[in-house]
Amino acid sequence: MVVVVEQNGTHAAAITPKRLTLDGIGARRAKAGRLVASTASYSDSDMFKSPYAYGKPKAKRWEHLFSQESLARGPCVLKQAAKYLKQPGMISLGGGLPAPENFPIDSLSLRVPTPPYFTEAETHGPLGQDITIGKYDARNPDGESVFDLSIGMNYGQSVGAAPLVRWVTEHTELVNAPPYSDWRCALTVGSTGALEQALRIFCDRARGDSILTEEFSFSTALETALPLGIRVFGVGMDGEGLVPERLDEVLSNWDPAARGGARKPTVLYTVPSGQNPTGATQSLQRRREVYKVCQKHDVYIFEDEPYYYLQMPAYNSSNGHANGHTNGHTNGHANGAVALPAETIEEFLESLVPSLLSIDTDGRVLRMDSFSKVVVPGSRVGWITASEEVVDRFIRHAECCNQGPSGISQLVMHKLVDETWGHEGYLRWLMHLRREYTRRRDTILAACEKYLPRDLVSWVPPAAGMFLWLQIDPAQHPRAGAVSLLEIEEQLFFTCIAKGVLATRGSWFRAEPDRPLSGLFFRTTFAAASESNIAAAVERFGAAVREVFGRS
Ligand code: PMP
Repeated sequence: MVVVVEQNGTHAAAITPKRLTLDGIGARRAKAGRLVASTASYSDSDMFKSPYAYGKPKAKRWEHLFSQESLARGPCVLKQAAKYLKQPGMISLGGGLPAPENFPIDSLSLRVPTPPYFTEAETHGPLGQDITIGKYDARNPDGESVFDLSIGMNYGQSVGAAPLVRWVTEHTELVNAPPYSDWRCALTVGSTGALEQALRIFCDRARGDSILTEEFSFSTALETALPLGIRVFGVGMDGEGLVPERLDEVLSNWDPAARGGARKPTVLYTVPSGQNPTGATQSLQRRREVYKVCQKHDVYIFEDEPYYYLQMPAYNSSNGHANGHTNGHTNGHANGAVALPAETIEEFLESLVPSLLSIDTDGRVLRMDSFSKVVVPGSRVGWITASEEVVDRFIRHAECCNQGPSGISQLVMHKLVDETWGHEGYLRWLMHLRREYTRRRDTILAACEKYLPRDLVSWVPPAAGMFLWLQIDPAQHPRAGAVSLLEIEEQLFFTCIAKGVLATRGSWFRAEPDRPLSGLFFRTTFAAASESNIAAAVERFGAAVREVFGRS
């Protein structure tokens, strides 16, 4: 899907449309010259998109879906005034931006990996490299640096600092090449912040708005919607996640009276890769079908993708067993799994199941990316990509709630992924990381095969992310029929705790907690514990299951 080599010949161009490449980014930057972006300077993705991004149709308009709250937001006058600062010779008596001489940090230094030597030991040893960020680096006209502490420590524009807006725009175009022209990016305070803002833009309590999501969904997302007065309804899933036919059924047969007065949903919130909590990954075919159903019912999509780059090769169990479904992606692996550990950047990008954003001809997707799961959660830096109209609503909101992510965080992220690693080094880091997660995934699956009673516990090997969703057969409980699923779940949860293993109860993730549980599930993660502890934890979980089900 992703083409990383420029197609110059007419024949090749006829087969594959031209799109941005790594070489293309380098060439564009060289041609554009040094980025000049002083304190609080305005930027937007249009300054950094390649010519390939234009000449495509424009996005549909979404004003009819915007909430009263969002429509009431105008531009922040103080942020707007900052654009005059770039006028040569301008002396500011305007915005309350403190002078950097009163910032009590002179420099910041970081030790980071040198691609491709990414391990902790390599970074700590002679292969690691030190970066020092000075207060006024960007003032040196002969220097490489375009972002320094004097800028990062001051107020900035809510869209994000120009150097990082440039990087996320280039990265997004390289990986997703959105098929419409007027897309933009804006930095976010992680996907948590992005979702809260997106919900408040698209949903209005006064209208009785509701959203759809997977029947088991990320609990924090549910906890974000409910206090806003937004009702959440679940859609049936299988091993590939959200089932498009179920989505169509729910929307086609929507009856507000049967749904407590909720309007037919106009938003779908979905996590297509390594879904939290089920670990399911939608194949390309699945994504296309979901998109089509959303087009049919004019539903806008929030694509939350913190695990997108943690897509893994298919799992080969030692006993040759592999349950699951076909992903329908060009390579056709089980459970949306990618074929082989990627060796080259081209193979890596090619192996990723294309995003909803990459098939979004209407501009009906707001994609959320985050550095949390692929660099550090504490950065609190992520970004959204959506049509200009939607990103404008998002920035207006950010101006009055968080002003975008911390400038210091943006600076650190920029130094790492742009100035030090560059796009290529960052992609190599992602390749390294997915190898790490593949090993951890394989460790937990091997432990499950060894320690769990297979007639009681089943699972689909995850093809992305950090979660393994275990399904337990409640019919085999000694008091089946006399006790509820929730009671069995609780009994198993506390038995696990007593044995020294914490696993997350499936019921905590129900999109509709007042509906009966559709099964007995536990979410486990292979991200947190050490590999040796993962095996020990699964052994304890197996012992708890045996005890609760009268097998010990
Ligand atoms: N979305 C999903 C599906 C997640 O699993 C998580 C983290 N658990 C988040 C969003 C939060 O991401 P962030 O740290 O970027 O706010």
